[in-house]
Amino acid sequence: MQSTLENIVIVGGGTAGWLTAGILAASFKRNNQTKLPTITLVESPNIPIAGVGEGTWPSMRRTLKHLGIRESDFITQCDATFKQGAKFSGWVTGSPEDSYYHPLVLPHRYDLENLATHFVNSAPEQDFASLLCAQGAICDLNLSPKNMSHKDYQGHLNYAYHLDATKFSQFLQSHCSKELGVQHVVANVQLVESAPDGDIAALLIDDGKRISGDLFIDCSGFKGLLINEHFNVPYKSCKDILFSDRAAAIHLPYPQNDTIAPYTISTATDAGWIWDIGLPSRRGTGHVYSSEFMSDDEAVNVLSHYANQTISADDVRLFNIEPGYRERFWHKNCVAIGLSAGFLEPLEASSLVLVEMSAHFIAEQFPNHKNIVPIVANRFNNTFSYRWSQIIDFLKLHYVLSERTSPFWQRHRDKSTWTDSLKEQLELWKYNVPWHGDFDHAREVFPSASYQYVLYGMRPRYTRPSANQPHGALEQIKRAEANVKQQISQFSQQLYDQRTLLHHLVNAH
Ligand SMILES: Cc1cc2nc3c(=O)[nH]c(=O)nc-3n(C[C@H](O)[C@H](O)[C@H](O)COP(=O)(O)OP(=O)(O)OC[C@H]3O[C@@H](n4cnc5c(N)ncnc54)[C@H](O)[C@@H]3O)c2cc1C
Repeated sequence: MQSTLENIVIVGGGTAGWLTAGILAASFKRNNQTKLPTITLVESPNIPIAGVGEGTWPSMRRTLKHLGIRESDFITQCDATFKQGAKFSGWVTGSPEDSYYHPLVLPHRYDLENLATHFVNSAPEQDFASLLCAQGAICDLNLSPKNMSHKDYQGHLNYAYHLDATKFSQFLQSHCSKELGVQHVVANVQLVESAPDGDIAALLIDDGKRISGDLFIDCSGFKGLLINEHFNVPYKSCKDILFSDRAAAIHLPYPQNDTIAPYTISTATDAGWIWDIGLPSRRGTGHVYSSEFMSDDEAVNVLSHYANQTISADDVRLFNIEPGYRERFWHKNCVAIGLSAGFLEPLEASSLVLVEMSAHFIAEQFPNHKNIVPIVANRFNNTFSYRWSQIIDFLKLHYVLSERTSPFWQRHRDKSTWTDSLKEQLELWKYNVPWHGDFDHAREVFPSASYQYVLYGMRPRYTRPSANQPHGALEQIKRAEANVKQQISQFSQQLYDQRTLLHHLVNAH
């Protein structure tokens, strides 16, 4: 029996399947091994992909570059736009002026010092993000993070993308098949054949063919064909922490040549929130909510009101969400990635970044001998259980800091729905500002800066001024503010608005 993993089989041709195939194939190619493992991706001809998931995280730039994709190809073929963070409207009180940014650029001098300490001691009446970061002002001006002189994946400001999820899967499929040697099989997996040791030996597909493999990656979506239906690995629901279990999604047309917001707009509602993502041709919008606090009809009405147009239940795509994740993602010779591994809710676009991280982890720690599969599997499970639990805390933070009064928000503030780890952080942050040491695992999904933006965006006075005031806090803050203002003025002269940049990129293509 061979001792190396030579054949990798991926089930599912959604974003998770193709991103995983591409990341693995590109990594193997780069390693210059004499014999590359084969990668086969099987996808059903009649089970559609989720086709949602339009907001990404800046890690996507590294991933696309790793796959050998030109940024302009990706932008033009996936209807992508530049995303510089999220604007949260109505999350604190719901009043018309209630909004804050979670930008993607770190607070001023973040690598060197924690200016949040000075902020809480000297300037909590000001807006944290606009005081210490230029990106919110650039977003308000609807400017892009880069201009035509920037190379692929570079810009003045950190950025991610908004994209058309269906086009993205098709684009990845073409690239992975043509450029990276991924074998593509269009067929339904009908049966899973087990080996004597309980591993998966092969998949039996429609035409009776058998696809054998050494490692099977389950990217089959919510159903979890291998991890759930075959292996019955339990699902850890967190519906008692994050209550949203329904989503109503719709594409809305843009008025001709309207500006495209270079950020995700997240607007709180009485029982959830609405996402609004600008692409060149349309706005991807949807309402994610808790069915316990709002019916589907009410949720569609709220969306209708938000969009300022009549939307009926027939116009939207409804999704059931069971917020949670698998107890184990890697079981025997099967790894779950994407929706089969779990899903929380679209807030902060944490799903695709986990797909990228999972595939990069497998590529970097790929077991060179079957004997070490259990060790790598165990590490994978520990790392990703930690990441999922951290994301749950980060998402919950957005809800517990709110002062909104409807029952959904009140329930979120009920401490019995908080995790112990979040309780501890929130107690700590009453006196200490969030900093690197609070999140010291390698490659955290959300850095401490993200916690600062949300914490002080929602509650500028959350951390009490220190009895032992740091020296020169006000001067430091004023210096930072002046630097940020200078950056805003410099960037605003050099950057185009989204549509103009996209227009240039398409024409130069
Ligand atoms: C409402 C909503 C909004 C979201 N927004 C975001 C966001 O903004 N940002 C973000 O990062 N993520 C978001 N997500 C998550 C994102 O949609 C997913 O992470 C992403 O689409 C990956 O899905 P997937 O590939 O795991 O599954 P799917 O897209 O469901 O693909 C499953 C694949 O498995 C195949 N398959 C199934 N059964 C079989 C079988 N028997 N044989 C062969 N093939 C089979 C199907 O044909 C399909 O190709 C959102 C999700 C929802 C529900």
